Amino acid sequence: MDALPATVVAADTLRDFVSRIFVAAGCSAEEARRIGHHLLSANLAGHDSHGVIRVPRYVQWLQEGKVRAGQAPTVVAESATHAVVDGNLGFGQTIGPAVVDLGIAKAREAGLAVVTLRNAGHVGRIGDWAERAAEAGLVSIHFVNVGMGEIVAPFGGVDRRFGTNPFCIGVPQPDAPPLLLDFATSMVAEGKVLVASNGGKPIPPGALIGPDGELSSDPRTLYGPIENTIVRDPGNGEGALRAFGDHKGSGIAFMCEILAGCFAGSPTAGPVPGGKRGGIVNGMLSIYLHPQHFGAAGFAETARSFAEHVRNSRPAAPGGEVLVPGDAESRTRAARLRDGVPLQPETWAAIQTTGAKLGLPPPR
Ligand code: NAD
Repeated sequence: MDALPATVVAADTLRDFVSRIFVAAGCSAEEARRIGHHLLSANLAGHDSHGVIRVPRYVQWLQEGKVRAGQAPTVVAESATHAVVDGNLGFGQTIGPAVVDLGIAKAREAGLAVVTLRNAGHVGRIGDWAERAAEAGLVSIHFVNVGMGEIVAPFGGVDRRFGTNPFCIGVPQPDAPPLLLDFATSMVAEGKVLVASNGGKPIPPGALIGPDGELSSDPRTLYGPIENTIVRDPGNGEGALRAFGDHKGSGIAFMCEILAGCFAGSPTAGPVPGGKRGGIVNGMLSIYLHPQHFGAAGFAETARSFAEHVRNSRPAAPGGEVLVPGDAESRTRAARLRDGVPLQPETWAAIQTTGAKLGLPPPR
């Protein structure tokens, strides 16, 4: 499938419309605003897979009780340097910032903090949480799993065993966006298959594997027949995403299950009761470090100059360039705030249909 031309929507219009949809769906104005803000933030960062394309699914999950409005996280246990938190299946856009703020507060006092989060609704783009910690001057490291979300085949295997299990590190930079490594441990995030299924950017060859072991880039490998469906369901497909980086990426995905699932007390990707997956339950293990407590005087400056040294590597291809983690997101954010957010027509239509079902006219 080739990418279809996009509809461009101004960032404010998109955030406001999405927020109104969640108010109409039963969230408080404040929670709806947070959902709108964080979904838009993913689009602005260039991660359309975790942006407003999620609206129809989130609304469906809310209506089915797979995510709950108006939840606050419960601190199950804590000390000066750690906390064990239950997200009570609340929206990740509500639970996420609360949990990150807890880690920030502890690490500012003690120098470091480890916070585990279990049973959170979809926490979306993990880079948002690392950026929040970086704004407070902290380095943060996040291992995430997707409970009951078996969708990725392990290295050498065909059957689904992992979630798309993202891994993220954020490093603050003075007067500049943070250095930010943030990726799914599958070859592509599931949402990128979703984007492709809506006529967006095709996924790379071999990102999927069929039940017979045949490599594929056809979204139907994951979703089954997709014609006339507003909400794609990976429970309908027979194939799997593939872990990135052979045994190494597959190993990180595995450890995300062990740390963010088993250790944090959140469900692992599988086995899935009944064999079908519902909404997304994220587990997360986060480590927060306050550079000042580590005697790292000049850390930010040396990190900045090292990043510059890396960018100055001669490009391998003529006209190419070398980026460091976070550069792509910063550039895309600047461009989309200026020019608007491109959405695949089918994505925008599905959002408007979701709004219409809740009694909302499309935005002008
Ligand atoms: P991706 O493949 O686009 O990789 C993004 C990372 O690569 C960023 O750190 C970016 O700065 C860096 N990068 C991009 N281009 C680069 C270049 N040319 N040179 C150097 N570095 C470059 O990301 P992805 O795997 O598609 O993940 C998308 C998003 O999905 C992430 O934000 C992730 O947190 C999110 N996610 C969330 C969940 C969940 O359950 N909540 C699950 C999976 C993924």
